[in-house]
Amino acid sequence: MIPGPIEVSPEVRAAHDGPPPGHLAPSLVEAYGRSLEQMRAVWRAPASAQPFMVAGSGTLAMDMAAANLVSPGERVLVVGTGYFSDRMVEILRRYEAEVAMVEAPPGEAVPLPEVQAAIRRTTPKAVFVTHVDTSTGVRMNAQAVAGLAHEAGAMTVVDGVCATAAEPLSMMDGEVDIYLTGSQKAIGLPAGLAMLVVSERAMAARDTLRRPPPYYLDYHQWRPIMRAYEARDKAYFATPATNLVQAATVGLAQILADDFAGKTGIEARTARHAHVACAMEGAWRAYGLEHLCASPDDRGVTLSALKYPTGVGPDLVAKIGAHGVAVAGGLHPSCKAEYFRVGHMGWATTQPGLLEKTVEAVGRGLRDSGVEADVEGAKAALLETWSHA
Ligand code: PMP
Repeated sequence: MIPGPIEVSPEVRAAHDGPPPGHLAPSLVEAYGRSLEQMRAVWRAPASAQPFMVAGSGTLAMDMAAANLVSPGERVLVVGTGYFSDRMVEILRRYEAEVAMVEAPPGEAVPLPEVQAAIRRTTPKAVFVTHVDTSTGVRMNAQAVAGLAHEAGAMTVVDGVCATAAEPLSMMDGEVDIYLTGSQKAIGLPAGLAMLVVSERAMAARDTLRRPPPYYLDYHQWRPIMRAYEARDKAYFATPATNLVQAATVGLAQILADDFAGKTGIEARTARHAHVACAMEGAWRAYGLEHLCASPDDRGVTLSALKYPTGVGPDLVAKIGAHGVAVAGGLHPSCKAEYFRVGHMGWATTQPGLLEKTVEAVGRGLRDSGVEADVEGAKAALLETWSHA
């Protein structure tokens, strides 16, 4: 239950296992083509947007987005909410972009009026925002940021590594230009795929770059391959992660087949994540745990970043682990010894037994640290909310 890589469904595991298919095998061509179509549906992207699925991690998707968008000396704005927006800054500097930042203290979102003022001040080519920062649990209203950027004629790149398929976002209105993720989080696959959907406008920006992107990252290399697979044709540029592609079409189909609270598909999936975050919150409250992100409106639904109670420190993570559930320590460099993180995304959000086991392990870990914890009360609080789907 760390915030990625997450547990995957038995069906995804079964699709991933088995002899490695060749990249030109008819079954692989079909799985690749279908996955790209499914990505458009999960991303809520128009037919004109280009999905890419490439062997690599979320960082590769960030790198591709930057490398194909900015030329040396061009101004960009990064909305800073933690560790992963700082990474975006570093990537952009490698491409010699002129990077401005508008930042919040760890555990806080950047207020939208501040984002708007920074866009007006810096007139960037593109605004980069982390949808949910996994280091702090802070969520930005990425859709609203994209609206502000659009008004000012700027493009928007959203890092959805800890959000895509869990937090609502739509590319349909053309304001979000790139929404990127890695396979190991709410998409519900093992690690190893960089996944991004790119608007027509952002695709066109590649054509006017003053120098080409690094070889492996170049949209011009990958676009013909993605198009071929979608047309169910064989293609080769660089060998895809074929077992993962087989798993991808199964995992994406599970998201699109979700049915929850009177909704279906991706809307059901995002509603399910919100509901589970609320149920977990009931349990954390029963333990008296507080979030690093104090404002409930600014918290992502994919993880809980929880402060250690007084007298408890990072060894709580191992104490929880001793009860059979892996959680993660803090990650933000300025306060990582002050909190721990529990992921609740993807397949786990369909498994109340797993959530209950997690709440129990956290409570027992707290008790082993000398803190009073009402394990039965916390589990009851979780299941009470869960049952009101
Ligand atoms: N952005 C966010 C928000 C992330 O959570 C992560 C990974 N935890 C990354 C980017 C980088 O992704 P990866 O580790 O898959 O390269």
